[in-house]
Amino acid sequence: MVRPRVRLVQLLRPHAPLLGVALAAMLVEGGASLLEPWPLKVVVDSVLGTRPAPAWVHALGVRTPSALLALSAGLVVAIALVGAASGYAEKSLVTVVGKRVGFDLRQRLYHHVQGLSLAWHERQRAGDLMMRLTADVDAAESFVTGAVLGIALDVLTVGGMLAVMFALAWRLSLVALLVTPLLFAVALATTRRVKAAAGALKAREAELASVAEEAIAAVRVVQAFGREAFEEERLAREGRDVVALGLAARRVKALLPALVNVLVAVGTAGVLVVGAQQVLAERLSTGELLVFVLYLAQTYKPVKDLAKMTDSWSRAVASLDRIGEVLGEATRVHDAPDARAAPRFRGRIAFERVTFGYDDGPPVLRDLDLVIETGQRVALVGLTGSGKSTCIRLISRLYDPLVGRVTIDGEDVRRFTLASLRGQVSVVLQDAVLFHATVAENIAYGRPDATAAEIEAAARLAHAHAFIERLPRGYATVLGDRGETLSGGQRQAIAIARALIRDAPILLLDEPSAALDAESEARIFAGIERLTAGRTSVTIAHRLATVRRADLIVVLDGGRIVERGTHASLLAQGGLYARLHQIQFAAEPAPVG
Ligand code: ATP
Ligand code: MG
Repeated sequence: MVRPRVRLVQLLRPHAPLLGVALAAMLVEGGASLLEPWPLKVVVDSVLGTRPAPAWVHALGVRTPSALLALSAGLVVAIALVGAASGYAEKSLVTVVGKRVGFDLRQRLYHHVQGLSLAWHERQRAGDLMMRLTADVDAAESFVTGAVLGIALDVLTVGGMLAVMFALAWRLSLVALLVTPLLFAVALATTRRVKAAAGALKAREAELASVAEEAIAAVRVVQAFGREAFEEERLAREGRDVVALGLAARRVKALLPALVNVLVAVGTAGVLVVGAQQVLAERLSTGELLVFVLYLAQTYKPVKDLAKMTDSWSRAVASLDRIGEVLGEATRVHDAPDARAAPRFRGRIAFERVTFGYDDGPPVLRDLDLVIETGQRVALVGLTGSGKSTCIRLISRLYDPLVGRVTIDGEDVRRFTLASLRGQVSVVLQDAVLFHATVAENIAYGRPDATAAEIEAAARLAHAHAFIERLPRGYATVLGDRGETLSGGQRQAIAIARALIRDAPILLLDEPSAALDAESEARIFAGIERLTAGRTSVTIAHRLATVRRADLIVVLDGGRIVERGTHASLLAQGGLYARLHQIQFAAEPAPVG
């Protein structure tokens, strides 16, 4: 797989104007720090010492030592003020850019993730994906905020200071620079190790998040089976690894400033020895040596910063790699380049020699041929795992067939845009998924512009109205995460209402009534029957009582259609359907169809 690296430059480009202003503020800030030691030099050399004041002081009309002292003191404050103001401006602008970069990146990633196929999502761990959307985006953001211009500022100040230092005393500068190659060697060596450690740590942290997420999502099972201790141990194991890796990364990181400090001290000592001799030989003034030493401390600072920056940089790179991994994942089900918006469907669905398997697994549907006429009510029955849900997924293109095609109104579904196709298909999935939102919002999810009256009508059809009314705040009741404040049957009823509210020509129901009692089921089906008049519907049901009135019953076995016909004709055939029917109704008096 070609992994498109997410490049920082790309992320920063849209914010160039703002960065430009920040850069200008930064130049002023750099200039201020360059000027900082100079008033001190004037005080040491011309107020305390006997050297003549520099020419620009005379130009200002300052003559007496006390006036010179006042001027220098004033300059110290003025330079600090300018530096502070520009530094403030630079930092706030850079923060704005950082936040925006983070926002853009997160949106882009989220958009991509939503478009990825179900097959991909099924392989993902929610915790890991969450880390990519939050912590990894944050790492990129904090690098932009903390380091991008920081590095530029460091390079500029060092450049400026070196220039001044060489102009003042080139021999002394050479002495000061003697340790620099060593400094860089140390910095580079640690950077590489810091980066490796950061990458390893990130991966383990994601693992930790996944373990925690899974256990919390499955807390009912964990508690019901009394496996809390086991889950805690699992988390502890991951946690210990994360701690160990974090400490290892920290140790590598802590090494750099320590080494740098020692090297800097060696450099400063050399400058003091050689510099003091030069002052004694009167080749350098005391003030100039002072400026030099002050500069020196500042030129070494960026190298020390490098430790911090490389850490931030390594983390950003590791995170951008993880984000790039997701962004590089191609959407398996996507719009064909020449896809067009589907016209309003009449609703004739056909499977033409469809073979399909999940991932690289064995075929789940084999050579399937099936025609569902416009307005027909079709029921899919068969043993568990026979491929019923898979059929439904192929119609709304949650997956694409490996061989053959699925058509609607005679046209391959792959020729339509996904949005226009799915917009006309209403689905009730096997496991009702509700959102942490109000009941009304959950129902209106099927049609965001639905009115309160329409929501209620759909709820009545789905036999949800009565129990919704009894909820503490009726339709405005906020459901818990995944809707678990409701019973299984109530959740399903709401999922049905959500599908019914959508005025779609094709209705796909995957065991819509599995969790309902027989009476509610009968009533819901009466409602659905009214609603599906004139629409094409495909219903999957294990309880054969609900499918008896279907226009066409299709029996699947092992991914193949083994029987098709009406209830009566299938019973007469005496095949799989008749057998299933016999088992289900053995204990009951024969129903009157
Ligand atoms: P049930 O009545 O239990 O809902 P079904 O007829 O709906 O069964 P499908 O869900 O279509 O069965 O599954 C058919 C086969 O495909 C099964 O053998 C199952 O193991 C496999 N399968 C289903 N979903 C996936 C998936 N996401 N990834 C891999 N294999 C899958
Ligand atoms: Mg199923």
